[in-house]
Amino acid sequence: MGSTPAIAVPASASTASLPAPLPPAAIMLARRLVMTSGGRNTGARRNVLACLIASDRALSHADIEAQLIETGLDRVTLYRVLDWLVEHSLAHRVGTAGGASGIERAMRFAFTRPEKPHSHAHFQCTQCGRTICLDDVAAPALTVPAGVELQGIELAAFGRCSHCRNAAATGAGSQPL
Ligand SMILES: [Zn+2]
Ligand SMILES: [Zn+2]
Repeated sequence: MGSTPAIAVPASASTASLPAPLPPAAIMLARRLVMTSGGRNTGARRNVLACLIASDRALSHADIEAQLIETGLDRVTLYRVLDWLVEHSLAHRVGTAGGASGIERAMRFAFTRPEKPHSHAHFQCTQCGRTICLDDVAAPALTVPAGVELQGIELAAFGRCSHCRNAAATGAGSQPL
């Protein structure tokens, strides 16, 4: 098999920086969902959606770019693809309300599981920012004042993720809880 020995890098560093390959099941599901949405089954759409499907957390633009760096995905295409996925209810934005209000940098994206409530709670780690869909917790139906157009509901839970808890437990063992 074509094993290409790269530049000498410590083994731990090289494995940590390499994006994990997308699981074939995620790519197959992504292809099917893009096609049933009536869209052209482009490689970019398929890969970005597969990336979201395979992730156990919501991903930022930078996370997705890093994951798909080898596919040569450019930023403009990534933004367009994410807009398309959101428009077609295959993905949702997490963590922000206003589109062009400057807080876009914190925006993350997650796969919208067809069988789960589309409007659901999200957990965010206060230490590392890891954001996870709590898609069994549906957002309540809200009654809004007349004339108000409700565009979404953010139901936010926060705390420490398992990674940060473990790091704290093993790192500073003497920390009283
Ligand atoms: Zn964390
Ligand atoms: Zn979500």
